Amino acid sequence: AIAGEIQAQDVDSLKVHMPPCMEHLHNEMRREKHLKHWGRMQYGLFLKGIGLSLEQALIFWQMAFEKLTPDQFNKQYAYNVRHSYGMEGKRTDYTPYSCRYIIQNNAPGPGDRHGCPFRHFSAPNQRAILAAHDVDDFDTEDIMSLAQGKHYQIACTRYYEVTRARMLGITDNLKGGSIHDGEGNVGMVASQESIEHPNQFFEQSFLLMKS
Ligand code: SF4
Repeated sequence: AIAGEIQAQDVDSLKVHMPPCMEHLHNEMRREKHLKHWGRMQYGLFLKGIGLSLEQALIFWQMAFEKLTPDQFNKQYAYNVRHSYGMEGKRTDYTPYSCRYIIQNNAPGPGDRHGCPFRHFSAPNQRAILAAHDVDDFDTEDIMSLAQGKHYQIACTRYYEVTRARMLGITDNLKGGSIHDGEGNVGMVASQESIEHPNQFFEQSFLLMKS
């Protein structure tokens, strides 16, 4: 994994590199001290992909579901965590879900926190995510219209470029038009390819900030 082996207590600090789908799951998990099944699957496999071992995953989820006693956690959830690491049942070593999978499968219902924000969230909730990351009006309208046009992964790619530029502190320097070239790319943080996978988003961001 790109970030090396990750400890349970490192996950919060890595949130800055997560795509909006995973950041949302993380925030809701912290708020509710719980996630429903598909949320645990989507987020848990993503964390596995970024380098959380089974041992650390068990610690992470048990600490996250802090309203449960260790005994309750072990009875209700530990099996599923081990299962997703291929240590139970058919021993399938599950891989993290791709964007396409998340966009096309298991549409979230009431109380669910999984899915792709660009595909499954209401326009006001999409705007709230962009506002929370200080995306300016120009880029907000651009990203919103991509999402409304069902170009979910391109919307995510634009989100990646705009927010990483801000994290690098280069947005202001490039204000006045030059930040947007004709292709809708943001200069030096332009993603080489469109976002196909939440783990790709994470890895690109992690490497970009490290360099
Ligand atoms: Fe997550 Fe992919 Fe949707 Fe981006 S496009 S929010 S990485 S599912």
